[in-house]
Amino acid sequence: MDVYGLVGNPVGHSLSPPMHEAAYEVVGLDARYVTFEPPADAGGAAVTAAETLGVAGLNVTIPFKQDVLDAVDPADMAARIGAVNTIDFSTDPPTGYNTDAVGATRALTHHGVGLAGRAVVVGAGGAGRAVAFGLADEGMDVAIANRTVERATELAAEVPGATAHGLDGLDELVAEADVLVNATSVGMEEDRSPVPADALHADLAVLDAVYDPINTRLLRDAEAAGATTVDGAWMLLYQGVEAFERWTDEAAPVDKMNSVLRERI
Ligand code: NAP
Repeated sequence: MDVYGLVGNPVGHSLSPPMHEAAYEVVGLDARYVTFEPPADAGGAAVTAAETLGVAGLNVTIPFKQDVLDAVDPADMAARIGAVNTIDFSTDPPTGYNTDAVGATRALTHHGVGLAGRAVVVGAGGAGRAVAFGLADEGMDVAIANRTVERATELAAEVPGATAHGLDGLDELVAEADVLVNATSVGMEEDRSPVPADALHADLAVLDAVYDPINTRLLRDAEAAGATTVDGAWMLLYQGVEAFERWTDEAAPVDKMNSVLRERI
């Protein structure tokens, strides 16, 4: 039996175990997906321990996504983002991937969104970094808007062709954009959107990384404006799909993983 898992602190809320175990069942793999919650200062030691115990693959979440970089050989995208959320132990040393970037791009393409033209990424934290690199790699012109403009400026200096902005310039940026991604936590605690509703338009595709709640204020405003909407569960789904495919070399049963995820959210 192969053991996969998630290391983080906390991990009790995670939707990954049912999503991955449903996939193993459909594909007929003898595998389990378990959670590990070591102390927050465990760092890369958790990766070494998992490798010693014969774990086949590990997802990594807060607060370990940066700490584990030294314990793996980071793939190009993970190195550029500076964070790892998926480790494959079939290589020596283990390979560290960041599947959040491809999670966002695959979520958009699943909905028929062409990844060309201009993108606005709101947020410059962990999710913002991944999404900005992912969309720039697809060839989009990326504008990064963040509450703390210095963080947007630092990120834009790393992402090819990107520009940095504060939130007050969003109206003009969004008017010209083809794709808009909310990669802030705005919309989680309160029914609030980081983007003025009247800036949204019918030629826009909007991905909200927030998945709790699933139908955020931003997505409701976007739908009212006639935009294509993609909720955060699609990004969560596709980061998991990508991890499953890297670990198992099998095509992921996307529909099953999606339905299990949505039942649990
Ligand atoms: P993070 O690293 O803590 O970054 C938080 C971001 O939100 C920063 O850009 C921060 O701006 C901004 N922000 C926070 N409060 C704000 C406010 N009141 N007004 C304006 N901006 C505000 O968090 P993260 O890991 O990037 O996660 C961000 C969101 O993405 C969370 O909701 C998370 O659940 C979601 N997420 C979803 C997926 C998925 O698969 N769907 C994956 C990863 C993350 P400052 O820099 O100014 O503080």
